[in-house]
This record gives sequence, C-alpha cells and structure tokens, in this order.
Amino acid sequence: MKVSVDRDRCCSSGMCVLNAPEIFDQDEQDSLVILRQTEFKPPQFAVLRLAAELCPGGAITVTEEDSAEDAS
Ligand code: SF4
Repeated sequence: MKVSVDRDRCCSSGMCVLNAPEIFDQDEQDSLVILRQTEFKPPQFAVLRLAAELCPGGAITVTEEDSAEDAS
C-alpha cells in the first residue's frame, strides 16, 4: 500500500492525526499534514483507508498495490 498526502488540499482539520497519530502529524508552523512513515504494514491498512475516507480535504491518497501490478 502506498500513501501520499497533498498539502495543497489539506485544510488542517487534524482528523488524520486524531485517528492515526503514529502515521500522520501536523506541521508546527502551518498545521498542514505531515506523513510520518513511508512504509506501511497490513495492520495499518484499515486505519489508512479510514483516514483517506474521513479527510475533509481529500488530501490523503491510498493506493492499493497488493500484487505487483505496477505497469506504468
Ligand atoms: S484529515 Fe486531511 S485535511 Fe485534515 S489534517 Fe489530515 S490531511 Fe489535512
């Protein structure tokens, strides 16, 4: 699973940090989202999907990459 955040879309709501503080943080200066990890394990997948779903700015993108279907 790949996760990316778009700081241009982040509205600093902090939902992601509330749900998964080990994965997301907010910048001390502008309160925009910071991704604290780059690699994720299966036990984290559900919370990552939820974070993407709940993000009011649509700033979190979760890409499933189960099998090696990266053909671009
Ligand atoms: S939930 Fe979305 S809008 Fe809110 S801080 Fe996290 S990335 Fe930004």
